[in-house]
Amino acid sequence: MPAEEADVTKLKLRILCGILAGLLLTGCSLFKGGDKTDPDAVDPNATAAATEDPALNPIAPPEGDPAENPSGSQSGEPADPSGSDPSPIEANPVDLPTPVVPDPGSSGTSEPTGTGTDAEAGGTRVTGIELDRYIVAVQVGKSEMPIVTMLPSTALDVGEIWTSDDTAVATVSTYGKITGVAPGECRVTVRSTDNPDVKATVDVTVVEDQDIIHVKQITLDKYECNILVGLSDMPWVTMYPINAQDKGEIWTSDDTSVATVSQYGHIMGVGPGTCTVTVRSKDNQDVTAKVTVNVKIGETVKEPTYIDGTLIVNRTYALPKTYNPGVSAEAKAALDELIAGASEDGLSFWIESGFRSYEQQLNLYNTYVGREGKDSADRYSARPGHSEHQSGLAFDLNSFDDNFDKTPEGQWLAAHAWEYGFTLRYPKDKEDITGFMYEPWHVRYVGKELAQKLHDSGKVLEEYFDITSVYAD
Ligand SMILES: [Zn+2]
Repeated sequence: MPAEEADVTKLKLRILCGILAGLLLTGCSLFKGGDKTDPDAVDPNATAAATEDPALNPIAPPEGDPAENPSGSQSGEPADPSGSDPSPIEANPVDLPTPVVPDPGSSGTSEPTGTGTDAEAGGTRVTGIELDRYIVAVQVGKSEMPIVTMLPSTALDVGEIWTSDDTAVATVSTYGKITGVAPGECRVTVRSTDNPDVKATVDVTVVEDQDIIHVKQITLDKYECNILVGLSDMPWVTMYPINAQDKGEIWTSDDTSVATVSQYGHIMGVGPGTCTVTVRSKDNQDVTAKVTVNVKIGETVKEPTYIDGTLIVNRTYALPKTYNPGVSAEAKAALDELIAGASEDGLSFWIESGFRSYEQQLNLYNTYVGREGKDSADRYSARPGHSEHQSGLAFDLNSFDDNFDKTPEGQWLAAHAWEYGFTLRYPKDKEDITGFMYEPWHVRYVGKELAQKLHDSGKVLEEYFDITSVYAD
């Protein structure tokens, strides 16, 4: 699937999804470090700045974004009453009043109360009404609902009275839900029950359904996913025509004991078996695409693998789930020597990421899959059990940036790491051998003797020991 065909909105959703997942899974770590080129990723304690890649920064979703809909979208409910289908007209600032700090105590959809005013005659009365928009475009048969704030925030009776001046064009409910009836224009007014002189108006334009470009087809970058229990995948969706206006997705799994799917299409393996995951156009629910999901139980690794006394961790050789040594004291002491040596040359190094447990790596990996899909995540993020960071012998230093190798520190590290017993584990142009993208910041402690042999031969561990680095599936 050509990248340019990718749906940008979808990308943003996925990024947001990934960030949210990251927040849930790693406790905000994603705001602290790493970018998409961070191969194996972000230490929860890392302090690097957030990614500079705008495509991966936290992006506020467009209005009507399903991410803002806390009730989720898998129910197939077609419209978010708080305002799907952001209208370009709303962007017109001309008629918008000066923003007022919203009143947290006043819900936009509060029910009319209309009672208690006598008893509270001495209380604060409503003196103004703020709306989140004053111009609304709505399709025939669809609805929009502006959000209301009664001012001041101390007002006691925040009841609303809604009217439409032409119910043949649009009607409005007692809660302010505006529904298109026929093409045309009308004005909807909201008044305070407490003080009917206080009002705000909404100019409503109703358009025909056929003026909308509907989704006619969905394609995926894959129609089959093979995942392990606890791991995930995310097919990439493209909706056609490309200029369709509502590319909302509804995802369902026909067997959630095999795999679940999030509202963004992030599929998670639950138990062994096969199921079908379906994505449906929110706009046109007859349009679907299906993915066959095969879930297997991963092989249980019982012992770490040593070759000539060197612990091997790569795509072929995993660590047991329970292997949880923390940072190796020997490796840390060697790193302290390296840092001291560099400082004599006027350079400074710091640890961005050191030891990571199996569970931390699991969460990190799934978070990346939720951002970019499994194929992409596999290039730079190790699956759980397959990260060298779980060995306690690996460190990510200074920066998760490919251009680290152009900095004085990056060049010094490439030239001198071996003198302290470290090897740059994932060199340039050896992705096919190591299984991971270039990581100029990732060093692995192997001891001075082996480090020198690797340095002198120019080989990586896989070449030196003549072993593979390939996932079993
Ligand atoms: Zn690393």
